[in-house]
Amino acid sequence: MNSAPGPRIAVVGAGLGGLACARVLQLHGRAVTVFEREASADARPQGGSLDIHAGTGQTALRAACLLDRFRALARPEGQEWRLLDPATGSALSFDAPVHDDDSPEIDRSQLRGLLLDSLADGTVRWGRAVMGVTPLGDGTWRLQLDDGTAEDADLVVGADGAWSRIRPALSDAAPGYAGVHFVETGFDDCDTRRPALARLVGNGTLLAKDDSKALLAQRNGNGHIRAYAAFRAPQDWQRAAGVDLDDPAAVRAHLLKMFDGWDESLLGLLRYPDGGFAHRPLFVLPTPHTWEHVPGITLLGDAAHLMPPVGLGANLAMLDGAELARALIAEPGIDDAVRAYENVMLPRSAQAAQDCAKALDDLVPPTDS
Ligand SMILES: Cc1cc2nc3c(=O)[nH]c(=O)nc-3n(C[C@H](O)[C@H](O)[C@H](O)COP(=O)(O)OP(=O)(O)OC[C@H]3O[C@@H](n4cnc5c(N)ncnc54)[C@H](O)[C@@H]3O)c2cc1C
Repeated sequence: MNSAPGPRIAVVGAGLGGLACARVLQLHGRAVTVFEREASADARPQGGSLDIHAGTGQTALRAACLLDRFRALARPEGQEWRLLDPATGSALSFDAPVHDDDSPEIDRSQLRGLLLDSLADGTVRWGRAVMGVTPLGDGTWRLQLDDGTAEDADLVVGADGAWSRIRPALSDAAPGYAGVHFVETGFDDCDTRRPALARLVGNGTLLAKDDSKALLAQRNGNGHIRAYAAFRAPQDWQRAAGVDLDDPAAVRAHLLKMFDGWDESLLGLLRYPDGGFAHRPLFVLPTPHTWEHVPGITLLGDAAHLMPPVGLGANLAMLDGAELARALIAEPGIDDAVRAYENVMLPRSAQAAQDCAKALDDLVPPTDS
């Protein structure tokens, strides 16, 4: 742990939420150590583009004094939104907001890089997975690391995402399958190599849907387009359908059959993606997910409120991180700070989880509706 004076704060997880928390703490001179299981910042691709909203993600970036640097990297034109008719590929509606700052897009890797670069050297301990925590009886906690060592902390912040190792210390809840699969595809250098696809998707997000499935595509930085086929199916649909998920040709054939009758321009999103197909069944925590306050430990982001990925999770994770840090700075003791944070975060995320569940139902309606 960082040996500076003051409470020993251990953040578990260097995702957007954990990093926002660490950044705001450090800005105010607080010591913090982030334990991250991945070996380095670029150990894994960070995923697509994120809308960073004015009232949540941008609020966190302002608290982190990173809003200007964020704006220099963000793409306001990425707010363009088009809904296409699946049968014809023609536009049913088109929204191209004037270049305001309401929710500009940024690649997740750029945003994470911005937060990482803002931290003092050595704040993130890479390659240190936390396996679990045990209370030491006086409100402090012991973290067990996967290399067999242990670290003690006055406050443990579980920012370790959907499959949190910290959550069991506070709650028995576990993520459950949400009934919907995303299958992700992607195309590089689209403006040059796939101009028709680039025109179809435009500068922002494309959606086409019928009453059981949807195709979504979004423009990322550097001419990359990321797309998702979304559909309701049992958790092990691939077994029933006899599809080997490691065989891109088999996945493509299955998806093309599923989307049969859709306009050829849209089916281009499924035909020859550069990176094959990544299967992402959606999991969510029960709503509302809450817990009785326990001294010296709390959760933020997906660890606290995993919800359908319809554009809020990363924003809320950063807001949680920044607000927890601000409470720790403002309140006289750790316990008062964590209570103040949880009193706001838990009801806010319960409402957001409900809204996201409804948005997922609108995107891919339940079969009985
Ligand atoms: C397909 C998809 C699209 C999405 N699109 C959007 C979007 O457009 N807008 C939006 O706002 N949200 C979006 N989300 C949701 C968003 O990705 C999450 O809500 C957000 O990443 C949560 O941030 P976090 O910091 O809580 O957790 P994470 O980003 O999951 O970070 C957790 C970190 O903890 C580390 N970790 C995990 N376990 C351990 C351990 N035991 N020890 C140490 N470290 C550990 C992980 O390696 C990771 O670095 C999307 C999600 C998906 C799946």
